[in-house]
Amino acid sequence: MDHGLKCWKCGASLAEYTLPIRRIEECRSCRAELHVCRMCEFHDVSVAKHCRETIAEEVKDKQRANFCDYFRPTPSAWQPGDLSAADRARADLEALFGGRK
Ligand SMILES: [Zn+2]
Repeated sequence: MDHGLKCWKCGASLAEYTLPIRRIEECRSCRAELHVCRMCEFHDVSVAKHCRETIAEEVKDKQRANFCDYFRPTPSAWQPGDLSAADRARADLEALFGGRK
């Protein structure tokens, strides 16, 4: 089954992940948490609380794993043009050193 999902942060394919994405799931490439608003089809920075699901409880941090019942990952979460140069540099570093402490 190919759901076409990509990591919202680095664009790595999530084809090997099965749906539903679990809260503990993280990207194998950049270690970004995947059960996050940024990965969700309801995430929209143009609306209040950055969420189009009006019943959902507000999630403050859009990049951390949430407990939202409305979470629905979308293949369009990855927006290559989204990253500022600084973000990209940080993502590259995280990819290099990710997970190692
Ligand atoms: Zn990633």
